[in-house]
Amino acid sequence: MRQIRAIISLAILTLIAFGVVNAQNPTMYIPDRVFDGQEMKEKWVVVIEGNIIKYTGPRKDWSGDVDTKIMEGTTLLPGLIEGHAHMFLYPYDQSPWNDQVLKESESYRMVRAVVHAERTLLAGFTTVRDLGTEGAGYADASLKKAIDDGVVPGPRLLISSKAIVATGSYGPKGFADHFDNPLGAEVADGYDNIIKVVRDQIGHGADFIKVYADYRWGPNGEALPTFSEEELKLMVQTAESSGRYVVAHASTPEGMRRAIRAGVESIEHGDGGNEGIWNLMKEKNVALCPTLAAGDAIMQYQGWKKGIDADPQRIIDKKNSFSSALKSGVTIVAGGDVGVFEHGDNVRELEMMVNYGMSPEDVLRSVTSTNAQIFHLSDKVGSIKNGLFADLVAVKGNPAKNISNLRNVVFVMKDGEVVLDTTR
Ligand SMILES: [Zn+2]
Repeated sequence: MRQIRAIISLAILTLIAFGVVNAQNPTMYIPDRVFDGQEMKEKWVVVIEGNIIKYTGPRKDWSGDVDTKIMEGTTLLPGLIEGHAHMFLYPYDQSPWNDQVLKESESYRMVRAVVHAERTLLAGFTTVRDLGTEGAGYADASLKKAIDDGVVPGPRLLISSKAIVATGSYGPKGFADHFDNPLGAEVADGYDNIIKVVRDQIGHGADFIKVYADYRWGPNGEALPTFSEEELKLMVQTAESSGRYVVAHASTPEGMRRAIRAGVESIEHGDGGNEGIWNLMKEKNVALCPTLAAGDAIMQYQGWKKGIDADPQRIIDKKNSFSSALKSGVTIVAGGDVGVFEHGDNVRELEMMVNYGMSPEDVLRSVTSTNAQIFHLSDKVGSIKNGLFADLVAVKGNPAKNISNLRNVVFVMKDGEVVLDTTR
């Protein structure tokens, strides 16, 4: 008997030595305050065991052995969630979108995407919804796999693969008729073709489907609707029958209206929205991802000197539509269209949301628990809550007082693994 016991203890010690059995205590993180996804809580702590959140609340209410880590002067938040990124694009002032799509190989674009993924993670964004590879095919599925396999550092990815456009609507454009150029997304039209393309994208790993419900293809280059409401409905039905959902790029009232009625779950950009549209969105449970930073970046690439020149009409219109959206109470997803501007500079969108009238605490809710809820991730990430995955970010200062404090990242944990820590 004694011998057996000795063998068993030796076996357990061996397992501990090789890391098979975790002999470590859980770790209690002690910041100045915790934002749990809903509220700012002074003097709360967070206990992590393995890759799971075990406890959050006042320190005195925890019993049990823990190792402690004091993070003085910091706010601890759920890992931030980027709502609208293109991991395979980079700022258009460095290389125009057309050139990225037409002249760069998929392997070159992947090398850049790997760098973008790491920068995003180190900025405290532990989850990213990617809205299309823009000509890089299904490369997003490979990037996601490499991150999940631990080959390269990066956020959890939700991917849409190629995105769907109507024939004739999307770019790059302007070539001779005899030249059949590649596009930044995949064409689909009509009953059979739409079903096939949606299924094909799902088969290649799309977590959700992105459709361009309108685009700049009007007689004078203005944005006008692309798909009929019936076509959009068909995409939603086809995606939903396999447990996926559809989101729509739309900026015209009619493009938005068709997409909302068809059953998409979020409207991307939504520049031309008005009170009637916001009410329809509320009624149909559709969220708005306003991408404020994208327009701001593009106007500056076109020569606008922000802070010196007066606001261009596009910026004035966007401020007005965002403030009417806020007033209406439509659900706001935080997503900047990162890629149009630098990956890792994701906080730019959050700063602009505050500049355009949203309270910092509402922005914090949006970029954590609201994004998680809209992206079907509430049971995994987006809140500091018992049982959820240990995705955390700590920043110096209080971002509910000044949203730019989100730039002072001192600690990032993804799935229980510390990927950045400068608090030591
Ligand atoms: Zn986009």
